[in-house]
Amino acid sequence: MNIHEYQGKAILKSFGAPVSAGAAALSVDEAVAAATTLPGPVYVVKSQIHAGGRGKGKFKGLPADAKGGVRLAKSIDEVAAFAKEMLGRTLVTEQTGPAGKQVNRLYIEDGSDIAKEFYLSMLVDRETSRVAFVVSTEGGMDIEKVAHDTPDRIVTFSVDPATGVMAHHGRKVAQTLGLTGDLARQAEKLVAQLYSAFVATDMAMLEINPLVVTKQNELRCLDAKVTFDTNALYRHAELLKLRDLTEEDAKEIEASKYDLNYIALEGTIGCMVNGAGLAMATMDIIKLYGATPANFLDVGGGATKEKVAAAFKIITSDPNVKGILVNIFGGIMRCDVVAEGVVAAVREVGLAVPLVVRLEGTNVELGKKIINESELNVVPADNLDDAAQKIVKATAQKEAA
Ligand code: GDP
Ligand code: MG
Repeated sequence: MNIHEYQGKAILKSFGAPVSAGAAALSVDEAVAAATTLPGPVYVVKSQIHAGGRGKGKFKGLPADAKGGVRLAKSIDEVAAFAKEMLGRTLVTEQTGPAGKQVNRLYIEDGSDIAKEFYLSMLVDRETSRVAFVVSTEGGMDIEKVAHDTPDRIVTFSVDPATGVMAHHGRKVAQTLGLTGDLARQAEKLVAQLYSAFVATDMAMLEINPLVVTKQNELRCLDAKVTFDTNALYRHAELLKLRDLTEEDAKEIEASKYDLNYIALEGTIGCMVNGAGLAMATMDIIKLYGATPANFLDVGGGATKEKVAAAFKIITSDPNVKGILVNIFGGIMRCDVVAEGVVAAVREVGLAVPLVVRLEGTNVELGKKIINESELNVVPADNLDDAAQKIVKATAQKEAA
């Protein structure tokens, strides 16, 4: 689960980490009220969307040379003018895709005098099974580009969970960033605070880009991108409240109500599969035959007819879907339950695209019988390879027609 920058900063602040003063705003009036509480004379007006690259982003409908989604305002009047221009408008950044994201909230922050910009992030490193720090002097810019062009400028180390974060980790960060004296002490303190926040709230990722040194010689987290481990959210009721459904895909929200493992993608072939591994293999083979999957979906082992029907309806609700492939290898999942769910969903919402069904395993004969007797327009398939070829072909024919 992702949260907004201002929410992430509030969490960091509660662990003692240095962030600028600021307040969120949903309207121009709230933006002005927020700015009035800040000392000025410089304010930062920041678009709150679940995507990075806002500063360099472009608003749809504004001239190409207009300022991006993070702007420095030199007066409260300017805060109001920027807020008016940004709220309700769609911001396109490198991370939003061409469709962009509508800006519904702003964060108004006390402007910092920046002397240097660094990069610091933390994530769960699956290779070492530890929390890793990634640190670079090359902050404020595209870290992927730094990793590609000058990988020696990125320093990574991980923390042994048995000891937790230690003074030498902080010293390593300070040394990497070339900080000495009081700034080195601030860095050591910050590393401990960030590690505590990360572990206590079960983050999966925390990215601070930029981490800055101000002209007043203070270290400060100027941006914060926080992702929580969804599997740990059951023990953080307070964090669940930070979820902003307007930032999430409507189909994924619907799927989460049914506890379905569904991820929306950009392709045209809707997939309904049981088992994550088989779902991945199904996506691969669709690509192999030249089409792209519209989603990842694992309906799970113990799915009911209602759950299968809900899944099928989510797939058909996607306007990009031009064909559907149901691929079930029934173990715990029974083929007849899948068949009943699919038939029930089609009766309710109809079926405007080709449907290929491959059923194998528990109660397969019964499942096939249910589908045959339903007189649905289904193309049966014998195996995964056959199924993938058939759906890719049927979709291409339908598109050409
Ligand atoms: P992002 O573009 O989505 O990563 O948003 P950031 O929060 O990182 O802001 C983009 C850039 O705006 C930063 O890299 C800074 O260069 C600049 N910026 C953000 N806050 C301030 C500030 O308080 N003062 C100044 N001078 N620049 C800022
Ligand atoms: Mg940033």
